[in-house]
Amino acid sequence: MTADTPHPLVECRGLAKHYGEGEARVDALKAVDLDLWPGEVVGLLGPSGSGKTTLLNLIGCIVEPSAGTLRLDGETVWEGKWLRSDLRRLRLEKIGFIFQFHNLLPFLDVSENVALVLDMAGATKADALARARELLDYLEVGHRRTAKPSSLSGGEAQRVAIARALANRPRIILADEPTAALDGERAGIVLDLLRKVAVEQSATVVVVTHDEKIWDRFDRIFTLRDGRIVMQDGPTAKSRDWAQGDAREVAET
Ligand code: ADP
Ligand code: MG
Repeated sequence: MTADTPHPLVECRGLAKHYGEGEARVDALKAVDLDLWPGEVVGLLGPSGSGKTTLLNLIGCIVEPSAGTLRLDGETVWEGKWLRSDLRRLRLEKIGFIFQFHNLLPFLDVSENVALVLDMAGATKADALARARELLDYLEVGHRRTAKPSSLSGGEAQRVAIARALANRPRIILADEPTAALDGERAGIVLDLLRKVAVEQSATVVVVTHDEKIWDRFDRIFTLRDGRIVMQDGPTAKSRDWAQGDAREVAET
């Protein structure tokens, strides 16, 4: 396969993860098959404990799989073991993570938080800060450039975290509940931005969400239940009903 052959950016084959052994064993993800293509923005739904974060962490090479194969951009990165010695570099090059809790470093200001990943990837300090400024302006938090994370509102902190995730122009962008702290209009801006990145950088964007406001913005929706993908669909009324059923079940338990 050459770099020009169309291929998925993410390929999971029988990808599984269990935590613990024996009585304590939890099968968090059971043999998931999934292909994600450049340019698409997909939603990941499912009740709490269904394996959404585990799947994101496996794709992001943050957690080691237990079985199966994981290929990123045509390169097999896990099959029985990690096939890349430098996982940190792999993550820096290929993956942008937007965490549920934004994980900004409290002792750095907003610009420095965004510039840090560029710095780690080898950019000069001036280039890193210029890129940080451009992204922060784009996300309408440029005026907070010199603020410390503790003084930001929830929505501002989330937009800074998104800027940080996009700084290296990764082609695989993984977001765990990125709009939970945002109102409808701001959630829409974030989804527009992620869509633009997917198209312009031939990236794939995976968004874990319970946020009904954004369900109709996805190209495809996967629903997880007990560690399996039980439904794959466009954003149809059917998949929405399903996920709402899940939300009700969770609320009732
Ligand atoms: P979701 O994000 O859909 O809520 P998770 O992927 O966080 O689901 O969790 C899936 C299952 O794996 C749950 O039963 C959870 O308790 C378990 N789990 C997740 N992380 C760990 C861990 N580090 N150690 C043990 N069990 C875990
Ligand atoms: Mg989770």
